[in-house]
Amino acid sequence: MDTRPFENERTLAAHRENGSLDEFHRSYADAVASVESELGASHSLWIDGRWVETDETYTVTSPADENLEIGRFAAGGSDEVDRAVAAASDAFDEWRGTHWRERAEMFRRAAEVMRERKFELAATLTLENGKNRAEAMADVDEGIDFLRFYARELERNDGYEYDTGEPTPGQHCTNALEPFGVFAVVGPFNFPFAIFCGMLSGALLTGNTAVAKPASATPLIAHRAVEILVEAGVPDGVVNLVTGSGRAVGQPLVEHEDVAGAVFTGSRTVGRSIRRTFFDLEKSGPVIAELGGKNPVIVTANADLEKAVSGVRNGAFGYSGQKCSATSRVYVDERVIEAFTDRLVDATEELVIDRPRAEDAFVSPLIDDDALDRYVEICEAAREVGTIRTGGRVVAGGDGSGGSGAEDRTGDLSAGRFVEPTVVTGVPHDHELARDEHFVPFVTVHPVSGLDEAITKANDSSYGLCAGLFSEDEAEIDAWFERIESGMCYVNREQSATTGALVQAQPFGGWKASGTTSKFAGGYWYLPQFLREQSRTVVG
Ligand code: GLU
Repeated sequence: MDTRPFENERTLAAHRENGSLDEFHRSYADAVASVESELGASHSLWIDGRWVETDETYTVTSPADENLEIGRFAAGGSDEVDRAVAAASDAFDEWRGTHWRERAEMFRRAAEVMRERKFELAATLTLENGKNRAEAMADVDEGIDFLRFYARELERNDGYEYDTGEPTPGQHCTNALEPFGVFAVVGPFNFPFAIFCGMLSGALLTGNTAVAKPASATPLIAHRAVEILVEAGVPDGVVNLVTGSGRAVGQPLVEHEDVAGAVFTGSRTVGRSIRRTFFDLEKSGPVIAELGGKNPVIVTANADLEKAVSGVRNGAFGYSGQKCSATSRVYVDERVIEAFTDRLVDATEELVIDRPRAEDAFVSPLIDDDALDRYVEICEAAREVGTIRTGGRVVAGGDGSGGSGAEDRTGDLSAGRFVEPTVVTGVPHDHELARDEHFVPFVTVHPVSGLDEAITKANDSSYGLCAGLFSEDEAEIDAWFERIESGMCYVNREQSATTGALVQAQPFGGWKASGTTSKFAGGYWYLPQFLREQSRTVVG
């Protein structure tokens, strides 16, 4: 067993610390060029260790450039779901019987391959979902972390089998955690490598088999992940990949009678429907879901405003707010709100809007036209009820109305969906702009009379995913920790007020409507959720 302290993969930070940033950027640019030269291929489904073609296919283009075809992907449907679930069911007995040590070794090997291919994987993300270099590499690093950490956890817990003794003479008892069977693994577009690999490895390492359905916008990186698991030795039928839409693939998958459990990251609406399906069909397996957030940050009169501005800006606008963890409402003490907001506006206008492959790009494109429409709609509403202090306009995409504010360096973003990061004031705290999750770069700033009112307002939400506090005062920090209703709580986190959790150190999950379970991804209690307890007694 690996007894060293867990070390996160920190590719970009390590390059920075070693003075080899140039090398990082060179490798990145080379990887983007090489991945780009191979785009446009056709990709089938992966079922029972074989490629399976479908009659229908769909084309994925880059959110940064609609003329850049990522590839053509098989559009699965209920027939393919049936085949994949049958393969996963058939493979289950042998896989659950495979020693946990062997499974852990397999996933460690897969993590090594991912490490060797990390630039290629990150470049794939940049092209497919529009993450800039730092965000894409962090996504790949996190995927590697999940595999390594969960493999370690399986070993640290001896495969979750315990001797529970002899309660009375002659009775020998053990307790074991056993897999359920076939898991539906339904992934998001925003962390299509990290979260996809995390959920899939959670299901598989624990001896379940899986049918994975990636977000329809990000099937290519899912292919890469599955291909690496297969290369590392995950047997035929244990992992199956069915691409396609939520309606055509996701729904029949979670409804399938032989699917025992589901693990999902995405919208609250879809999460709720999976739960309802499990309830209606009387499935006893778990729905492990990480859902949305409306993540509040509090800035008190005792805050270091520089830290607060940087933390809020990065938390709200990293990957253009397309994270469940994005900072979306800020409660600022009225004594410092003017200074804070002015500085936040200035800092936001410095953000570079560029194609994600560019070395210094910060602002990413929006994933699809729905996101663009949502952005336009909420900016219109913000103009009516409040004041847009910066942003609020579409830079490229949609009606192409153009805009200014944040810096547009390239002059040719026209084939992407780029919008300005937006800071809004004057919106009532209970307005839907400050209440609903929008998944675009949009943050509302609200005045409060002090910490007490700020915490009350921060907690006045059905969500409870991430929360941030900026204060240099110990008593305020203690009071906030005591009352804040949130799974993830960050104090004075300058690099980002609410996003960027690290595996093991900062297990990720939500309270209230932000999730369906109370155990977090990348934490010590994640794996047991994929298992059911069995109490075993032998007399004699
Ligand atoms: N784990 C990510 C973070 O800490 C967010 C995941 C998500 O958006 O689903 O920022």
